Amino acid sequence: MTRAVVIGAGIVGLTTGLALRRAGTDVVICEQAPEIRAAGAGLGLWANALAVFDELGVGEQVRAIGKPSEMYFHDQAGRLLDTPEFGVEDHRYLLVHRAKLNELLADAVGRENIRLDTGFREYEEHASHVEVRLSDGTAEEADVLVGADGTYSAVRAQLVPGTPAQEHAGHHAWRAVIPAAGVTVLRNRLILGTNGCRGGYVRTHDGNVYWLVNQFQSPPLTGTRKQQALERARHLEDAGEDGVLTDLIEATPEELVLHNQIMLVPPLPHWVSARVALAGDAAHAMSPHITAGATLGIEDAGLLGHLLGSTGDVAAALATYEAVEIPRYAHVAELSAAVEHAPTPQEFARHYAAFSHWMITQQPLHLAVDQVRA
Ligand SMILES: Cc1cc2nc3c(=O)[nH]c(=O)nc-3n(C[C@H](O)[C@H](O)[C@H](O)COP(=O)(O)OP(=O)(O)OC[C@H]3O[C@@H](n4cnc5c(N)ncnc54)[C@H](O)[C@@H]3O)c2cc1C
Repeated sequence: MTRAVVIGAGIVGLTTGLALRRAGTDVVICEQAPEIRAAGAGLGLWANALAVFDELGVGEQVRAIGKPSEMYFHDQAGRLLDTPEFGVEDHRYLLVHRAKLNELLADAVGRENIRLDTGFREYEEHASHVEVRLSDGTAEEADVLVGADGTYSAVRAQLVPGTPAQEHAGHHAWRAVIPAAGVTVLRNRLILGTNGCRGGYVRTHDGNVYWLVNQFQSPPLTGTRKQQALERARHLEDAGEDGVLTDLIEATPEELVLHNQIMLVPPLPHWVSARVALAGDAAHAMSPHITAGATLGIEDAGLLGHLLGSTGDVAAALATYEAVEIPRYAHVAELSAAVEHAPTPQEFARHYAAFSHWMITQQPLHLAVDQVRA
């Protein structure tokens, strides 16, 4: 039986662990944190991620913790930025709470297959196996190592040296999930405003509200996180509008406001060696304006499961994985840049819908494998 070590029990590491186990591989996931947790708040999952979860047998469970939502943008005067060339299905996603999703996935993988408080240190690759050295002084031997250890991946640092995560200059995000008590939220709203700001609010499955504010090319930050978010909300809601976003931020305790300087992983010349592969943000942390990093990483996990499950030749499986993934992410980068550099909110909305249309209508990755092999 093939044995795999997966580094990182985030969304992608857990999904990789599940996919590999379903494919008949013996898996241990090593997570440096003392518990399964998820930084962040709400997470939008698109149809392609749900298709992978369906294949792995957890689709219904994931839907049960999510709220079906639609990604339509408005301008700051409240007008819909319509994209009539795209259908309603191109806008549909499922909003889940990150921590709940990770708990669900950890249960599906089997907690006994997850080593908490166990950080990755280094690996040594041999013709017959890979030895993975861990922070507690122990080592795991495996046929394959998957680095799903996120944006600052230590596995990537060894596999592809000289590729540290880089700041997406001036790009910041603020967000929180809060009870809607005291603020009337009759509908979801995503807004493309001025000064490079976008944001909005979405009701969650359990009656809370997820609000988010982002800015490209932000001026230097001053004040508390809440003040920073409030300042940007002024570019998202015209005076005279209902001001729900502002009210939600006002109602959020400072300690619940999450702030991120957005970080990117540069395009990598390779993702694999004969026995080591990267998946998820470790390979492709990208700007969250396309809200798809996790969704695409879940597909990485599904593909690794298919490839490693269908052969004992690890090196060949990983070479095929890389041959599918590198061109795919070059295309994602092009579509993402078109959204980011759209000259108007209307154009942003159109390019965004074009991206989600591409993402949910692309063929499942394991079918793309046949073309790569042909
Ligand atoms: C503001 C914002 C909003 C976003 N919204 C969306 C969205 O709506 N939809 C979407 O699809 N994507 C979204 N994304 C992107 C998404 O959050 C990421 O793509 C996704 O979380 C990546 O998952 P991952 O498992 O690859 O990495 P992570 O979630 O970062 O998990 C990595 C794990 O590895 C562990 N780890 C790190 N180093 C080590 C080590 N040395 N040893 C052991 N363990 C280690 C960490 O503790 C962590 O548990 C958003 C991102 C941001 C910043």
